[in-house]
Amino acid sequence: MTESSRIPLNERLFRTEAIILHRMDYGEADRIIVVFTPARGKLRIIAKGARKPLSKTGPHLEFFHRSSLLLAKGRDLDVVSDATTLDPHEGLRTSLEAFGHASHIAEILNRLTEDRQENPRAYRLLSDSLHLLSDNVDPWMITRHFEWALLSALGYRPEIYRCVNCGNDLQAETNAWSSQQGGVLCPACRGGADAARPMSLSAQKIVRLLDREGLAAVARIAIPEAVRDEIELIFADYLRQQTERDLQSLRVLRSLDLPPERSH
Ligand SMILES: [Zn+2]
Repeated sequence: MTESSRIPLNERLFRTEAIILHRMDYGEADRIIVVFTPARGKLRIIAKGARKPLSKTGPHLEFFHRSSLLLAKGRDLDVVSDATTLDPHEGLRTSLEAFGHASHIAEILNRLTEDRQENPRAYRLLSDSLHLLSDNVDPWMITRHFEWALLSALGYRPEIYRCVNCGNDLQAETNAWSSQQGGVLCPACRGGADAARPMSLSAQKIVRLLDREGLAAVARIAIPEAVRDEIELIFADYLRQQTERDLQSLRVLRSLDLPPERSH
């Protein structure tokens, strides 16, 4: 029996599962931690003494851990009373590439969501994606799926079936992508959009498959490097548009210039 399980659960205390998205040092030995939870969305919490060598909670509040937390409601930040790791996602600690991708998805989620907005679908997506990254499944695939599915879960899904400008069904040809307009433009409408970039038929097919059938269907296909790059740039551009700021971790990941590391 842990110390905190003897604390009666009263109105001030509540237990939740949570994934650690971000953390910063605070004061002498404390940490402020940003977590994502299934029923309460994103929370900012404080773990007092978490940086002390013998801290009971500190080891359960590492980056990307999925942990069970006992929290006490505070005036500004809820306070960690107890923490137990459910899944440390150990594989993220042994692969720099997987860790980089995990940082990227955590940052996107952090930037695209407000505090205390419940989104169980986004929580499940985060949990599943970290689990697969930790298991060394193709990080490009997991990350693109996360980006697309998160945009959909938050109501930012781009239009990929009809021209975002004229509304006509898109034909099987090279069309154009416009982050500003929120999706694909037909060749006739492309002329008026300065920021539009060409989008190949292959890239459109993969994104539609991702949208309609999800990760498993896309994972069965060998996607050429050029098409991977094209989709990655398009998603990054759209996410930049949504977050209105560069994604810091994406730049860091690119600057590492890692060799491809695929699991299949
Ligand atoms: Zn059009």
